[in-house]
Amino acid sequence: YCGMVAIVGRPNVGKSTLLNKLLGQKVSITSKKPQTTRHRILGIHTDEAKQIVFIDTPGLHIEEKRAINRLMNRAAASSLADVSMVIFVVDGMNWTADDEMVLQKLQYRNDDRKIVLAINKVDNIKDKEALFPYLNELGQKFDFDEILPISASKGTNVQRILDMAQTSL
Ligand code: GDP
Ligand code: MG
Repeated sequence: YCGMVAIVGRPNVGKSTLLNKLLGQKVSITSKKPQTTRHRILGIHTDEAKQIVFIDTPGLHIEEKRAINRLMNRAAASSLADVSMVIFVVDGMNWTADDEMVLQKLQYRNDDRKIVLAINKVDNIKDKEALFPYLNELGQKFDFDEILPISASKGTNVQRILDMAQTSL
């Protein structure tokens, strides 16, 4: 088995940290960062049975004010059709208009790819109880296959994301 999984989210939410943890979860790792117009390959996770290419889709965060940007955005969004799962990363309980914009583009194509919401930096959230109503609200508002509170830096729930990525292939 071999497939691609996208890590998507605005700058600073912890995508690179998550990727490092994902790649560090198990033994054999090859990592490279070639730039192409559509994807940036972030890293490749390999085990005995499966190989997952983690990609970044930078075009999704571009402002759509100009026609050329809209075009690039559409290219980025449609290129996500090739992935078996999208890990949409947000920063804790700070949901922004930017996040919503990216999310709308993710739902641009209606296909059978999984979308997982990773609510990162939960180690920063003192009152963990406050997370539950928040998770509930997001679950009602958007159609995610799974909503997972994670800590990319501490590794909380990162194995769970890797398992989901592997089963999505
Ligand atoms: P990217 O721009 O989305 O790739 O984000 P980075 O992975 O570069 O992380 C941005 C900042 O958030 C860095 O200072 C990270 O150390 C920090 N960060 C990432 N993940 C976590 C986390 O789980 N908990 C905390 N407390 N900080 C994190
Ligand atoms: Mg990064």
